[in-house]
Amino acid sequence: MPFKKADPNIVQFARKVRLDMDANAAGRLDGQSKICNWLWNRLKDQVEARLTELFLMKWLPIDDEATTKKLLSEVYSEIGLRNLVPVLKDRHPFLRCVHSSPLKNVALRMAKAITAHRKSKNGERAGPDVGWIKYKAWAKQWMSLEYDEPNKGWDVSEFGWLKLSFGTDCDGKRLSLKVRMIKPPKHITQAHTCRIVREGKDRYYAAFTFKKQKKAERPLPRVAYIDPNLKNFGYALDTEGKAFEIQNLQKLPEVERTLDSLRAKRDRCQRKSLWVDHVHADGTRSTHWRPSRKWTKLDRVITRLEIKVREQRKHFQYSLANQLFRHYDVVGIGDYVPENTDHGKGRKYNRAVRNRSMHGSFKDVLKWMATRSGKRAVVLDETGTTRICHVCNHVVEGGIHPSIREWNCPQCGTHHVRDENASQNGLRRLLEFLRAGADIPKLPCLGPVQIIGRCDWRFHPQGWQGTPNGGANVNSMRLPEYRQRCVGRGSLPGGDSRAPETMRRFA
Ligand SMILES: [Zn+2]
Repeated sequence: MPFKKADPNIVQFARKVRLDMDANAAGRLDGQSKICNWLWNRLKDQVEARLTELFLMKWLPIDDEATTKKLLSEVYSEIGLRNLVPVLKDRHPFLRCVHSSPLKNVALRMAKAITAHRKSKNGERAGPDVGWIKYKAWAKQWMSLEYDEPNKGWDVSEFGWLKLSFGTDCDGKRLSLKVRMIKPPKHITQAHTCRIVREGKDRYYAAFTFKKQKKAERPLPRVAYIDPNLKNFGYALDTEGKAFEIQNLQKLPEVERTLDSLRAKRDRCQRKSLWVDHVHADGTRSTHWRPSRKWTKLDRVITRLEIKVREQRKHFQYSLANQLFRHYDVVGIGDYVPENTDHGKGRKYNRAVRNRSMHGSFKDVLKWMATRSGKRAVVLDETGTTRICHVCNHVVEGGIHPSIREWNCPQCGTHHVRDENASQNGLRRLLEFLRAGADIPKLPCLGPVQIIGRCDWRFHPQGWQGTPNGGANVNSMRLPEYRQRCVGRGSLPGGDSRAPETMRRFA
């Protein structure tokens, strides 16, 4: 059951696997999804009819406790709403050609949406207001098929294949579909639930959930702090003194620019034009408003590209979080959000910065990954970390302009690399925070740390690669003496089997 109280020692995570579909299989899945969508809309009618009935009973007034109770449960409880499905099944036999699990989950999803709406109305739920349930248009959004019980209606025992059961046809024969999965994870047979989703017009996925026991924490935690910034994704420093600059996604700005120009092109096209659909025998015409052919075509390209960008960003964030927790027990990150102000490079640039920066969502990913791997993510207030000298705590009045990458402390004369000084301060703050929390018995140090090596972390679709700091990095270009020390030891801390060569160096 999806709403059982979670065991704190067990973490859940999901894996999405692409399905290799032909037109026939796609059509059959679409059919299933359409029926679920239809059920959603009918259930909404049912719920609203009951609400009207309740309203009338209150005002007439009719005092029938049993009926009131029944109606209330059918609107506001999961079980009550779910029990409306069999009644509908009897009335509309075609519902039987969908497996009972996805049908039941349509009702459960609606129950959840109604609860969210009620709680939001009563102020029991934080966040934006949740409106009343709406009719769903299948053409706009594909209704996902949820199989929430292990191996009930779905079967992955034959590796690489997913066998889905549907309902029964008019002769009572069980319908099913067997599709090949593209690169399923090795532990696929341990999956608990399965959900079929479609993205765009033709990409079908099965999302599996898994359960995993949390790992016990190490006695001496490995701690790292990331100072997020705009130029790169962030500058990180760990308690062992390894510093690494995390590079942003490389190709993304180009794709974003392409997207911008495509959107502009699309918006210049006719959004609404009158189409003649059919000329009748008597000469009258049926007409229909719809976007022009060019608009539709551009829109399709844009949607496809948007999905691609979204997936790439997600991949970047998840693999970064994964990589971080492979090496560290605690990862802290500054609460930096790109300011909604003028960056001095024009209106387009300002907007782009706001849109492209991934720091907001990355914090959520990091937290989620921490729970999943039994580790810890901390978001820290980073005000003032840049302007304070980490050696003598001198505060530079008025801050340091973003264009200044290196500076000398006016009080103690220490030469600082801007981002490195900021992450020294951040790391110290993080360690102080951990000590105050007292739930971690022993810390390796309380910062600042002696830097022993610097490198760049670069994202590649196959995994992260660490390269000695230099080359593309503007900071280090001005630091020949650091580059010298760094060559030969710059790599991802701890070593990584996935990225060749550069990984073996740190030890
Ligand atoms: Zn100083």
